[in-house]
Amino acid sequence: MSSPYDDNTWESSNYSWLVFLGRMLPFILFLILAIAGMWLVYLFFNPSGDDAEVVAAVRARGLSAPFFKAVPAKPVSQRFAQSPGPLRIGIIAGHRGNDSGAVCEDGLTEAEVNINIAEIVVANLRLRGIRTNLLDEFDNQLNGYSGTALISIHADSCEYINDGATGFKIAGSAFTDSSLLLSCIEDAYRTATQLPYHANTVTADMMDYHAFRLIAPDTPSVIIETGFMNLDRELLTTNAETPANAITDGILCYMNTTR
Ligand SMILES: [Zn+2]
Repeated sequence: MSSPYDDNTWESSNYSWLVFLGRMLPFILFLILAIAGMWLVYLFFNPSGDDAEVVAAVRARGLSAPFFKAVPAKPVSQRFAQSPGPLRIGIIAGHRGNDSGAVCEDGLTEAEVNINIAEIVVANLRLRGIRTNLLDEFDNQLNGYSGTALISIHADSCEYINDGATGFKIAGSAFTDSSLLLSCIEDAYRTATQLPYHANTVTADMMDYHAFRLIAPDTPSVIIETGFMNLDRELLTTNAETPANAITDGILCYMNTTR
């Protein structure tokens, strides 16, 4: 028996090629499907438009960039603008714990006048839930004292100088911007007491007040001379509520403005 391949060489070789193709068909189909699949995946993930520019930029920069975890930056501790710290107001009762300050002929001392007003201010603030420290003139707590504001309460001379020796005055710390605290208290005090502002008797002692140097540099601070103990005596003693409430209002104005 002769083989069917023997008599026609061309036919038989052609036929064997077809058989080969037939055997390979599943593999060829697999290749076609695989290539089509990869092409689809490529089309699906290939960025276009804006994305392409970003990808190109990243490619241009190379892949040598250090790997890092994108952690959001911690908020800078900024007392007022972003993260107001706990409220705390310091009130210095002028001369307390050190000396009597100015003294009147009948024995009334500036220290008494100051503590009387200071205690009302402290009570007012605490009534509103504001943490408040009543401090001596040279209180140990003043070293590095950090708070929302520090206010030192003093009063002027008890001697009769002339009819112009009436009025109040305020000086702010030069170490921390205290202008807003100053203007709030000045406005509230002027409105409530009707006293004139005694700008021309603001002394170097007030401008360079010792506590301004001691407290933390982020604590606004002012010193107020609430009035003259001679001509303004009644306001500072019998009617001490008026200056005390005015100072309280000024502090609240400042706190409301900055929070
Ligand atoms: Zn004083």
